[in-house]
Amino acid sequence: MAQRNNIETSGRHFLQIPGPTNVPGRILRAIERPTIDHRGPEFARLASEIFSGLKRVVQTTSPVIVFPSSGTGAWEAALVNTLSPGDRILMCETGHFATLWRELAARLGLVVDFIPSDWRSPVDPAAIEAKLIEDKTKQIKAVCVVHNETSTGVTSDIPTIRAAIEKTRHPALLMVDTISSLASIDYRHDAWGVDVTVGCSQKGLMLPPGLGLNAISAKAMAATKTAKLPRSYWAWDAMLDMNKTGFFPYTPSTNLLFGLAEAITMLEEEGLENVFARHKRLARATRAAVKAWKLEILCRDEERHSNSLTAVVMPEKSDADEFRKVVLERFNMSLGNGLGRLKGKVFRIGHLGSLNELMLAGTLSGIEMGFKVAGVPHRPGGVQAALADLTSD
Ligand SMILES: *Cc1c(COP(=O)(O)O)cnc(C)c1O
Repeated sequence: MAQRNNIETSGRHFLQIPGPTNVPGRILRAIERPTIDHRGPEFARLASEIFSGLKRVVQTTSPVIVFPSSGTGAWEAALVNTLSPGDRILMCETGHFATLWRELAARLGLVVDFIPSDWRSPVDPAAIEAKLIEDKTKQIKAVCVVHNETSTGVTSDIPTIRAAIEKTRHPALLMVDTISSLASIDYRHDAWGVDVTVGCSQKGLMLPPGLGLNAISAKAMAATKTAKLPRSYWAWDAMLDMNKTGFFPYTPSTNLLFGLAEAITMLEEEGLENVFARHKRLARATRAAVKAWKLEILCRDEERHSNSLTAVVMPEKSDADEFRKVVLERFNMSLGNGLGRLKGKVFRIGHLGSLNELMLAGTLSGIEMGFKVAGVPHRPGGVQAALADLTSD
């Protein structure tokens, strides 16, 4: 079956998982350059360019640091630099990624109060407010939320969460995982009063995996003075100290940084506002297709649908992974799987990063043909609905 459309050699693979995303040719070519001396003047110029560019992308005047790591490393860095063993923190169960971050925090020796949810809804700011009001002795040191929950396709409202914290006058730090929202969905570290932003390279930034990011507010930096969790590789102070002159305390991912500089250039050529608007349109067209197929979108809240991915609930008796296998073998396209408790029940369409209307049309066509081939009950016409949506404005 795999040979049917000569898919091994003809055309290209469609990587429509919500990260890693398609890496555009410009970035691949930037990465391909010969590695340079990471203690030399050319590197210092590259790093300085990246540090100022990242501030514009994260929308902050605070430092943004880059680890040679996955996003998980950047999660760990956020916690170990600001907290002490036994500290209480508040986290919200938006889905699989929030759950993984909680497990990581618990392994570090933090005491996590996990606000439960149904994996179909955004963070509830009122629940955070209630927990903080209850905490009369200010034992909660941080509130950690995932901006865009990649397992469910639900985006939470960070300004409203910040406002809920403000209302209680609670001093807890606010940490936000923007791994699948950064450079796809509007996000503002400073304006939204975030203390630590966690990001990484392989989603909206259009890079291969391998870079983790932290943006650090002055309040988060002050917290490092008393934070007692052990840290070495992830230590912000050593990193920031070296970054001042454009260097790193250990060997950075030089070639990925070439790619990052190119990614920032591309985002700024398009304009961040236009990047967000493009993601919004492609997401809207995707949802138009899902509705026309008469399938259910996992996100329950119309207002909080993710613009970077859509999680689609499979009809009863259809297995999402079997469907994904058919799409991969027959059409050479990878779709996201259901994670954790959603395994087999949903598939996820990644529509973030380097993507345009025709790529989305191809993606949705592969899905609709896949439904037919795999015998998944649906109403035909989703692609038509998406095309109509894309040409409606
Ligand atoms: C992908 C992702 C992560 C994990 O990043 P890794 O690079 O796999 O460690 C964490 N949080 C969110 C929201 C993600 O989408």
